[in-house]
Amino acid sequence: MIRVVTLDSFDEKQIAKLCQTLYTAFGVGSEHSDQKEVPAGMSEPLDAEKLISELKGVRAYEDDKVLFVTSRKLKEREVPGGKAPTTGYALYNKNRAIISTHGYKDFEASFKPIARNALQQIGHLWGLHHCLDPRCAMYPPWTPSFGSGEPSFCTFCRDKSEQKLRLAKS
Ligand SMILES: [Zn+2]
Ligand SMILES: [Zn+2]
Repeated sequence: MIRVVTLDSFDEKQIAKLCQTLYTAFGVGSEHSDQKEVPAGMSEPLDAEKLISELKGVRAYEDDKVLFVTSRKLKEREVPGGKAPTTGYALYNKNRAIISTHGYKDFEASFKPIARNALQQIGHLWGLHHCLDPRCAMYPPWTPSFGSGEPSFCTFCRDKSEQKLRLAKS
């Protein structure tokens, strides 16, 4: 199960739509399961890795994947060629990831890039790497075309995520 945990207030309808998109992409249940506070003492821009490692009291079973959603800015990170805004972060092959909607004026109008980012971070939790197909949600997020694509995977990444899911279940 994919558990969406919000860290700020969002339109419940948009979060429900995000869960539906995750369900369609991965074929596993997804729900808005909790709302948490950013720990006191952590200020913007948030250190994504520190934040998701330190958030306590999140209800989840061992095989669950938790996606935190914040509207606050995440700290920039080093990428090939300089610094880039961080829209998401995942503990690769583990259970926790985060996306930020910072920089998008409106969740509804920016639904595709937000959902695409969510797919990519959760994809990383299942061990998916970046993909060279520009139509795929695993395409590198710092590319200019990333935000205009659909929230879905190419056949290769879809098959790979299904394989990982089968392994996790058995
Ligand atoms: Zn990535
Ligand atoms: Zn792909």
